[in-house]
Amino acid sequence: MIFTVAIDGPAAAGKGTIAKAVADHFGFAYLDTGLLYRGVAKKVLDGMEPIDAARALIPQDMERQGLRTAKVGQLASKVAAMPPVRAALIKFQQDFARREGGTVLDGRDIGTVICPDAEIKLYVVASDEVRAHRRWLELSERNPDLTEAEVLQELRARDARDTERATAPMKPAADALLLDTSDLTIEAAVKTAVEAIENRIGQGRA
Ligand code: C5P
Repeated sequence: MIFTVAIDGPAAAGKGTIAKAVADHFGFAYLDTGLLYRGVAKKVLDGMEPIDAARALIPQDMERQGLRTAKVGQLASKVAAMPPVRAALIKFQQDFARREGGTVLDGRDIGTVICPDAEIKLYVVASDEVRAHRRWLELSERNPDLTEAEVLQELRARDARDTERATAPMKPAADALLLDTSDLTIEAAVKTAVEAIENRIGQGRA
């Protein structure tokens, strides 16, 4: 079966958590596409040019330590605004998406650019404050001096860059299902997503 679940939305809205849970539930393969841009950013910090880094990216680059830091996230959103960097990463994502057995990809442009024909598209959002609180809980374990206000500022700067860039800006596809997780538990958000996908799979069989 070829079946793609495209999940987009801003940072820390819950899309990674939902994507992983959905992939587990249906036995689909999962790709966190943010790791591609974070992998490129990490290579740039090592001294490479962004375009060379994107062209040379290999799967092991997405397993490196330190990809989740705010510094790498900010640089990822800068390299992600460069059209040749995005172009170098398209084929890998599209090949992954059409693998046999079902796939889930999460990112910013999956439903709009990478997989415009995905069988189902979700756009996951949450209020800025809720997103900042969640991300702060994650990051403050390793960085106890970090404040929630700093995290909020970092998220807003990154969202602005991701929304305002000319190539593949972050936005919901016209046919995406909007899922606001601000007041939802993880379980409730996952349940909503799973039900939407089950409905879609049912339509395919009908
Ligand atoms: O999702 P994550 O926070 O790991 O993504 C890091 C950055 O990578 C984002 O801020 C965005 O600039 C970029 N990105 C993108 N397109 C994607 C996934 C991530 O531009 N599909």
